[in-house]
Amino acid sequence: MTEIRSSATQPAGTGAAPARSDAQPVVEISGAGKIFGSGPTAVHALQGIDLSIRAREFVSLIGPSGCGKSTLLRLIGDLIPASIGSVKVNGKPARQARMGREYGIVFQAPVLFEWRTIDRNVELPLEISGRPAAERRERALEMLRLVELEEFAKKYPWQLSGGMQQRVAIARALVIDPKLLLMDEPFGALDEMTRERMNSELMSIWRRTHTTVVFVTHSIPEAVFLSTRVVVMSARPGRVTSVIDVDLPQPRTFETRESERYFELVTAVREALHQRDLDAPGARESNGDAARIRAEGYA
Ligand code: ADP
Ligand code: MG
Repeated sequence: MTEIRSSATQPAGTGAAPARSDAQPVVEISGAGKIFGSGPTAVHALQGIDLSIRAREFVSLIGPSGCGKSTLLRLIGDLIPASIGSVKVNGKPARQARMGREYGIVFQAPVLFEWRTIDRNVELPLEISGRPAAERRERALEMLRLVELEEFAKKYPWQLSGGMQQRVAIARALVIDPKLLLMDEPFGALDEMTRERMNSELMSIWRRTHTTVVFVTHSIPEAVFLSTRVVVMSARPGRVTSVIDVDLPQPRTFETRESERYFELVTAVREALHQRDLDAPGARESNGDAARIRAEGYA
């Protein structure tokens, strides 16, 4: 893995103390690449990805739009196969982990079933795996308590706000007690205030469930606030250009966002995102890209 450590970087693992005791990585990607299509119209979405994620880490993937963040998340979740290289989850090929329902996934849109009540939406993964009704109900309520939506169990999705619906999607992903939670810009459609609140809630859920999270975002503050490590990706073909350890103390709170270290880390991630433009061949032309990235709100 190309691991360019920024000056603000600290030794690994400082953000998630329990991770060090777990020897086997939850996610192990080596030499992975993804090409969509073939011939002259082929799209090289990812190239030479090496990444190892330990238990209880919270890893964010950040990079410009179209750099392959979602593609990488989909490779981990075996929603699409890698064109080259290997992707292992819990020590097994990603396919086997998917068959064993070892991960939960949350997308940008909550994709709830409108005709099912909230609790029955959360129960769905257990229904698919044939769990008994009583167990399903109990577990769904437990998850709704976790995301603080217990009193909405009998409501329908349209009766809930966007942020609440996304919490339902998180509850549904967690109902199978996955070792790995994959999240693709889950708060991208929410306003800034709701997003910050959701970030705090996700942190509290993460602390209580001890699950390992891989989180796609293009928000630098979000990545820094949430993560124990931030993986910075370059534009297509997507590659890992830097990995920044986030050594902010846990639990992360309102004060975290106002600490000096937080600002240093935000700056470190921002610089890592821009570095690729400065390093790239023909950097002069790509200064336009840097301006575009700023304009699109990555920095
Ligand atoms: P990101 O999530 O970082 O915005 P994606 O992973 O969605 O980026 O996409 C990476 C690149 O791969 C983009 O250029 C996108 O157009 C392309 N791509 C993604 N999925 C497909 C697909 N199913 N077929 C063809 N090209 C795709
Ligand atoms: Mg995406």
